[in-house]
Amino acid sequence: MSQLVDIVVIGAGSAGLLSAISSLQAGARSVVVLESAPEYLAGGNSSLTKNLRFIHNGRAMADFLSGRQDSVPSSDRFDPYSGSDFLRDWLRLSDPSFDRSLIRSIIERSEKTIVWMHSIGHRWKYERTILPGAINLHLDGGGQGLQRRNLMAFFSLGGRIYFNATIEHFAFDSGHWVVTDSVGRTWKAWSLVLAAGGFEASTRLRVKHLGEKWRSVPLRGVPFNTGHVLETALAMGARPSGRWDSCHATPQSLDAPAHRHPGQMHQAHAANRYAYPLGVVVDASGRRFFKESEDYGNHTYASLGAAMIEKANGFAYQVFSGEVVANPLFPKHYFDSDSSYSARTLRQLAHELAVSPETFEESILESGKGYSIQEGWYAFPTRSGLTFTYGGLKVGIDGSVIGDSDAPIKGLFAAGEIVGGLFGPGYPGGSGLTAGAVLGRASGASAALHALNSSQS
Ligand SMILES: Cc1cc2nc3c(=O)[nH]c(=O)nc-3n(C[C@H](O)[C@H](O)[C@H](O)COP(=O)(O)OP(=O)(O)OC[C@H]3O[C@@H](n4cnc5c(N)ncnc54)[C@H](O)[C@@H]3O)c2cc1C
Repeated sequence: MSQLVDIVVIGAGSAGLLSAISSLQAGARSVVVLESAPEYLAGGNSSLTKNLRFIHNGRAMADFLSGRQDSVPSSDRFDPYSGSDFLRDWLRLSDPSFDRSLIRSIIERSEKTIVWMHSIGHRWKYERTILPGAINLHLDGGGQGLQRRNLMAFFSLGGRIYFNATIEHFAFDSGHWVVTDSVGRTWKAWSLVLAAGGFEASTRLRVKHLGEKWRSVPLRGVPFNTGHVLETALAMGARPSGRWDSCHATPQSLDAPAHRHPGQMHQAHAANRYAYPLGVVVDASGRRFFKESEDYGNHTYASLGAAMIEKANGFAYQVFSGEVVANPLFPKHYFDSDSSYSARTLRQLAHELAVSPETFEESILESGKGYSIQEGWYAFPTRSGLTFTYGGLKVGIDGSVIGDSDAPIKGLFAAGEIVGGLFGPGYPGGSGLTAGAVLGRASGASAALHALNSSQS
């Protein structure tokens, strides 16, 4: 026997929970979230995150979001970030697959969405980092804090969640969405929200869409985002959107595991190797293959991870002068786990790395960073880790899933990584969560309206 509820949400990541919270605030009477992971492993990729990117007016917003006066030290610059700044950063490497009207509407709603998140209990804190272009306003407690507060807000509004509920099938039948999990439990709802992430955890789909080189790439996130919900939606007529051959991947420490679990947020952050704009990146033979300083690291880190897979077998050394490493703000976690290499001269370092000294020296000098060959040197081995995939569903600005005939599919909505058309070669750090939050909030409100109208007619 299945129970009838107003709304079912598949996936308890941030996008799914924000959608569920928004739907309850919009008047939905019963909202159920179905989550594949067991309770102790729930949280999704969202629980491993750090910050969001959004339009803001500088210091006043930092004070408001942190709940503190003068949260930004007067010695630090903290400039406002406008809608046109955000749009420029998002479209920096524009791609024909981008859904520009959706991107614009996400950017325009980002500030209001953050204020709404504050109203349901979210908080931020200011923390300066050395890397130019970094977002210095962090979610308080990072992704773990984000997901803890999302769950608290959801439960306080009367929402229910089922863990160990891996959704295998859903279909529209006699006016309702009927959702079935892998052990045969079913739920019936007027509205269904798909928030089950991308397809990064499926080897089959990685090879199919990204190519053979991505078969055994380590995941930066959870092993639950298999793309099954995405494929089911496509099979029933949802329109695909975005770059299916492209994904978000970034440089990681050499000992990064095959995947992460919620609860490993600190380890996930410590595995990031994002200081490369201050140094030079070379492949295993010592050859430079990426323009490290072309833009802020925050705009290029996802391209570097992809370039490592496509051009360097997933591996690279990040090379820094001793002066850079000696800066007190250089990330200390570079020394946490990796076997780092150091030498007095570039030639000696080349010898340590077993690469051609000529190629290596040429690579360092061609970077144009004005190094002297004689200063002290460090090299850190890194590997690429896949964060999430870009190909997904086409949705309207209200989160409705668009079908084959270009019309919204009745009662079907989506938010988060399952949405396509948003990202490509130039991913501006912190915008995945923003897109998930804006469309999560919008899809929840739309799903509630649809459920209330349908149940009355
Ligand atoms: C290590 C790491 C750090 C990141 N840092 C940032 C950051 O700082 N800022 C940022 O903007 N983005 C960041 N991202 C990207 C970010 O995680 C996403 O953009 C955002 O959190 C996606 O939210 P989501 O709800 O769509 O996905 P998720 O949080 O992954 O949630 C999807 C949920 O669906 C569940 N699920 C999957 N399949 C099924 C099924 N068949 N049935 C039921 N449930 C299912 C999964 O278990 C999961 O809980 C990071 C990602 C990683 C991996």
